[in-house]
Amino acid sequence: MRGRHLYSRRLRELEERLDDAERNIDRLENTLRGIVRETDGVSVGGPCKCGESLLIVRHRTVYCPHCKYRRAI
Ligand SMILES: [Zn+2]
Repeated sequence: MRGRHLYSRRLRELEERLDDAERNIDRLENTLRGIVRETDGVSVGGPCKCGESLLIVRHRTVYCPHCKYRRAI
């Protein structure tokens, strides 16, 4: 009985953390979209192969702000 109670509390905590994380992601996405919209010549591509960031496209160059991968297009 006690174990089940602890388990459901743990689940509730995880749900709250997941909700927080999702809200955080939504907020960051909206911010990023706003920045891209207001910055001429900048767009965002797919995920970098390092998996830690999306690629930024600017001045005919694709680059990753995290691992410094860079390639001309
Ligand atoms: Zn990268």
